[in-house]
Amino acid sequence: MSIQTNEHAAVGYAARSAEAPLARFEFARRALRPDDVMIDITHCGICHSDLHAARNDWGRTQYPIVPGHEIVGVVSALGSEVQGHRIGDQVAVGCMVDSCGDCGHCSTDLEQYCLEGMVGTYNGKDRHDGSTTFGGYSDKIVVRDEFVLRVPEGLGPAEAAPLLCAGITSYSPLRTWKVGPGDRVAVAGLGGLGHVGVKLAAAMGAEVTVLTRSPGKAEDCKRLGAHEVIISSDRDAMRAAANRFDLILDTIPVRHQVSHYLPLLKVDRPLVIVGMIEMMPELHTGHLLGRRILTGSGIGGLRETQEMLDFCAEKGVAPDIEIIQMHEVNEAYDRLENADVRYRFVIDLASLKREASG
Ligand code: NAP
Ligand code: ZN
Repeated sequence: MSIQTNEHAAVGYAARSAEAPLARFEFARRALRPDDVMIDITHCGICHSDLHAARNDWGRTQYPIVPGHEIVGVVSALGSEVQGHRIGDQVAVGCMVDSCGDCGHCSTDLEQYCLEGMVGTYNGKDRHDGSTTFGGYSDKIVVRDEFVLRVPEGLGPAEAAPLLCAGITSYSPLRTWKVGPGDRVAVAGLGGLGHVGVKLAAAMGAEVTVLTRSPGKAEDCKRLGAHEVIISSDRDAMRAAANRFDLILDTIPVRHQVSHYLPLLKVDRPLVIVGMIEMMPELHTGHLLGRRILTGSGIGGLRETQEMLDFCAEKGVAPDIEIIQMHEVNEAYDRLENADVRYRFVIDLASLKREASG
């Protein structure tokens, strides 16, 4: 067994504090362990979680932080014991890069809920050396082989990238709650997660309604596969939709009144929070007494993420993306904050490599 000892010089974009814009950052990727894969990153999506983390909205960011957990690239080196990947393969990495592999959750394909805590792709703590993980706004990454997924034929690398977080975070609850033909699904918030949620639910045969604050997005909704649009501030329209839905996927990224949405559910059906990760406003439990379920969901396991990628390739589900250059990331963050993205920014990492060599 040969163990590499040389670290690999890497370059990326990092935030050095909650107030600082992202800027060029040179660092090292670890020497390959026997079960590691090194990936030359070609594309990385920008998730609203990257913005929350860079600005320390959740109060647990370690600086410098290199965000990015919607990673697609090409295998460039392999640890001595890696079997499942070959140099030149097109691969992907999502929100986690390791877990214990042993606990009740890891052994049932729920690594995202690892009882010892999964290791985040950025701002996580490496299980071996305790170092802080750096994400995909960079030229390369080293990841344990099991956490490296295959990008199926038929998915372009830029379009595949957002599926690694926005895709799986929408797909997992739709599968958990067995959404299928004849079901009525509502998606609250039409951003990165929401627009993939619409496409996925429609591809599963559901009738989809978008609940949005933005009348200007109505045209897009139809194109994305939605049957109906309700402007969430229109009280009459919201009232008319009471007791209608089998599932509400709530992707709204900020504190909001879930009680405005709960009455739209049928009995025994769930509102799944995936967006708001913070204290929520007071909730009158009367809304739950109609036997409605309030629950949440976090990304998805490895097996389910691969299944989602394969499903998207088979059904032709691809996110709507706007490709940007690495140096445009701060502008993209401002636009993301103002819900001015249709519907996912994806960084072309060739631009970083050009910058680095120029
Ligand atoms: P995004 O692209 O910014 O989309 C969020 C959408 O929510 C916006 O396009 C907007 O849609 C709506 N919205 C924004 N601000 C709002 C406000 N103040 N009030 C009401 N609606 C608002 O964000 P994203 O990347 O989809 O991420 C959404 C959230 O999911 C983030 O908080 C992120 O951290 C979280 N997340 C969770 C998981 C998980 O595992 N659970 C995984 C990834 C991301 P309209 O214009 O249609 O209203
Ligand atoms: Zn994300």
